Amino acid sequence: MSDQNSELSLAYIFHHHQLLVDENLQLPKVEKLANDLSFNSGDQIIARDLFIEDQIPAGYQLIPIRQLISQWTKTEFEQASRALQLLEWRRNHKFCSHCGHETEVHPTEYAMVCPACRYHQYPRVQPCIITVITRGDDEILLAKNAKNKGSMYGLIAGFVEVGETLEEAVKRETLEEVGLKVKNVTYLSSQPWPFPSNLMLAFKAEYESGEIVLQEEEISDAHFFKFNDLPETPFSGSIAHAMIEHVIHNTPMHQE
Ligand SMILES: [Zn+2]
Repeated sequence: MSDQNSELSLAYIFHHHQLLVDENLQLPKVEKLANDLSFNSGDQIIARDLFIEDQIPAGYQLIPIRQLISQWTKTEFEQASRALQLLEWRRNHKFCSHCGHETEVHPTEYAMVCPACRYHQYPRVQPCIITVITRGDDEILLAKNAKNKGSMYGLIAGFVEVGETLEEAVKRETLEEVGLKVKNVTYLSSQPWPFPSNLMLAFKAEYESGEIVLQEEEISDAHFFKFNDLPETPFSGSIAHAMIEHVIHNTPMHQE
């Protein structure tokens, strides 16, 4: 793996959710193999799975992609996230979901094609809403995920259901998770999130009515916190962090 040769491809090489990078968090350059996923137009960027029997080259290491979000630019992280999602999609669509036949990679599109019935399987994005809820001028609702054993409080989030608008999803998830009604649901921004293949759609909303009642399988604690007295909140680079900063400090949602 040399970085001198311009014939080589920049490679996103993943082992599960870990990405191969050097000590400066730079991607390796490799010779393209037949089974690599070509990433953009041309063959200069590829994505590849690293199997456990493969050697990790000297000077390289596997870093969880979640850690890179705070160390890379938004564009760099989004490209890595796209590579991870496309690889996972290809791995999960080796067979036709319509007739069960083995699929083939489409030569030019991101599609897995069934040679028997011609069914095309495309990568799918799962829309997921995330909502920052305020009450009055100085309070924000923060909730602790039941799966999170640490002390971090986050925002209300959940998958959009079939047949539902985004605003309905915001209202339903808030009612389900903390028992509150919200109003003035407004779109803020979005972020691709590769765990596994979500598109996070950020909204802000205002408290309307109700007392907090926790959905205990999902949420272990939730409160309205004063802006000047917050618990530990999500890390910089996450959309939740940008949303909290936006409502408290009026910072723009888009950093670029
Ligand atoms: Zn088929």
